[in-house]
Amino acid sequence: MRTSSPAASLPLANITSTGLGLSSPPLASTTALAPAYPAPAASAKATAAATAKAEVGRATWTLLHTLAAQFPQKPSRQQQKDARTLVDVLTRIYPCGDCARHFAELVKREPPVVTSGPEFRRWLCSVHNRVNSRLGKPTFNCDLVESRWSPLGCSPEEDDAGELGAAAGCDLLGVGAKGPRRR
Ligand SMILES: Cc1cc2nc3c(=O)[nH]c(=O)nc-3n(C[C@H](O)[C@H](O)[C@H](O)COP(=O)(O)OP(=O)(O)OC[C@H]3O[C@@H](n4cnc5c(N)ncnc54)[C@H](O)[C@@H]3O)c2cc1C
Repeated sequence: MRTSSPAASLPLANITSTGLGLSSPPLASTTALAPAYPAPAASAKATAAATAKAEVGRATWTLLHTLAAQFPQKPSRQQQKDARTLVDVLTRIYPCGDCARHFAELVKREPPVVTSGPEFRRWLCSVHNRVNSRLGKPTFNCDLVESRWSPLGCSPEEDDAGELGAAAGCDLLGVGAKGPRRR
């Protein structure tokens, strides 16, 4: 059985403008408030997107700093070109468009320094700090970058272990803990 109050039969415009005896605001002002109270589904989506953005960021920095930790003391021309290309590609296809655009501006102002492992690590630390500052995060002390990020499973002991070292990841770039290997 349906019960019908007088209000139920009124058109929406009448309900909001007459206020049914209550002091409801007119429809126009109710609508204007809407963006301040996003629907739960929209805010859940925004939270998920922010989490994914942060995760992709952490993963990308991990890749870049680990790669830099393993970058040779004396990189070949090809290795220097590869590092520049990697950075360049990120400025175009990094999965957060706004981040990619900002990163492209950064890289234009401070092009990658890939002439040696230590210089590449310093450069990367510096641009990461620029992103940190943009996001209002504390900057990282770049003197500590070599202790924060190390080559993959590549301790001097593993490096001495020859084949075992290579299997553990020391040989990814032909670079052991002691620097590039001669082939
Ligand atoms: C190229 C790039 C551009 C980005 N641009 C944006 C952007 O514009 N807007 C946005 O919201 N997010 C951006 N991000 C993501 C953002 O930088 C963070 O990755 C994300 O916010 C998660 O931050 P986090 O605090 O976990 O630490 P992260 O910044 O991801 O850092 C991971 C770890 O690296 C270490 N670390 C921090 N700073 C340095 C440093 N300078 N040198 C060496 N190690 C360091 C710390 O131990 C830290 O825990 C970008 C990511 C990348 C890779």
